[in-house]
Amino acid sequence: MNSELLIKEDYSLRDYNTFNLDTTAKKFIELKDDDEIEYFIQSEFLKEGILILGGGSNLLLLNDFNGIVAHLSNKGIRVLNESVEDVIVECEAGEIWDDVVSFCVENKFYGIENLALIPGTIGAAPIQNIGAYGVEIKDVLVSVEGFDLISREKRVLTVAECELDYRSSIFKTTLKGRFLISKVKLRLSRKKKFHLNYRALNEKFGKRSVDQISIEDVSSYIKKIRTEKLPDYKILGNAGSFFKNPEVSPEQLAELKKEHHDIVSFATTAGTYKLAAGWLIEECGFKGKRIGNVSCYEKQALVIVNHGGATGKEIKEYSERIQGAVKNKFGINLTPEVNII
Ligand SMILES: Cc1cc2nc3c(=O)[nH]c(=O)nc-3n(C[C@H](O)[C@H](O)[C@H](O)COP(=O)(O)OP(=O)(O)OC[C@H]3O[C@@H](n4cnc5c(N)ncnc54)[C@H](O)[C@@H]3O)c2cc1C
Repeated sequence: MNSELLIKEDYSLRDYNTFNLDTTAKKFIELKDDDEIEYFIQSEFLKEGILILGGGSNLLLLNDFNGIVAHLSNKGIRVLNESVEDVIVECEAGEIWDDVVSFCVENKFYGIENLALIPGTIGAAPIQNIGAYGVEIKDVLVSVEGFDLISREKRVLTVAECELDYRSSIFKTTLKGRFLISKVKLRLSRKKKFHLNYRALNEKFGKRSVDQISIEDVSSYIKKIRTEKLPDYKILGNAGSFFKNPEVSPEQLAELKKEHHDIVSFATTAGTYKLAAGWLIEECGFKGKRIGNVSCYEKQALVIVNHGGATGKEIKEYSERIQGAVKNKFGINLTPEVNII
């Protein structure tokens, strides 16, 4: 086991968050393998404020972090069990999510091709139950392994124990800030099957039989749509969707429709409706509206962007203006999807 970890002090997080915010960490360490993670867990560091960091693509850093930032960069993708039906893939938490998707696409392991190009690490993927184009990690997650930062015990949580929900999990509720995910296991299908119900996918592939579609076709198309629709965070800092899509009852939706006939909504399996937060924000005039160095992206109002030089506080203030306007116009509360630290 390593006897010590390299600690960097007053370390810039500029290259570690996709809003490109120039904040610093009082202390910063890399955790590159099991030994370093276990050393960290048993160390005195756990007495300090801790931020576990993956790709920083779901974070809004308001201030310099006055504690220790532990950056997970442990790598490894292994196939554990293979049957005719499916395959179990285990990944170290620091693996880049999109590299895991590419590995599965190359090996024709079906299930996460719709989640291509989502930034960040696989270790963070269960935290908000990442989802896109009709698929969530919930659909393929077997378990996560990691450490309770209070008891310092190693634990394995099954998918049921992770309490995954729409952009939520136990790691955002009961275990918020007190669990380090070190490994993630997924179950993928070896039988060809796709999730093509999402409108854009149905329009593209709906008329073809499964035999006429390949896993590469689907992942490439997802990448194309995402690249056209979303800003490149290296150029325009952002953290993807800033807010969750709010959920309303059928009665609330009917009431809203009286005044706003064209409100965009989607039925959920729970009998409620999700409202498209991007539409609500656009209706309030924020699409492309720039205040200082912050605006909503001109092609997608749900994405707040840093044009360069904005602070976390300016971005938060801008987001609060949006919340106020949406509340005023529609009576709806928008909840941030992004973790505000
Ligand atoms: C352009 C863009 C598009 C996006 N599109 C989508 C999308 O389609 N769907 C979607 O769901 N999300 C999307 N996101 C959000 C983001 O990519 C995901 O939430 C991603 O899972 C975050 O991973 P990360 O490694 O960057 O996490 P970070 O931002 O580093 O961390 C996020 C949270 O998880 C915690 N955390 C990170 N790693 C660990 C770990 N190993 N153990 C315990 N806690 C940890 C952090 O402390 C923090 O609270 C998008 C973001 C961007 C910038």
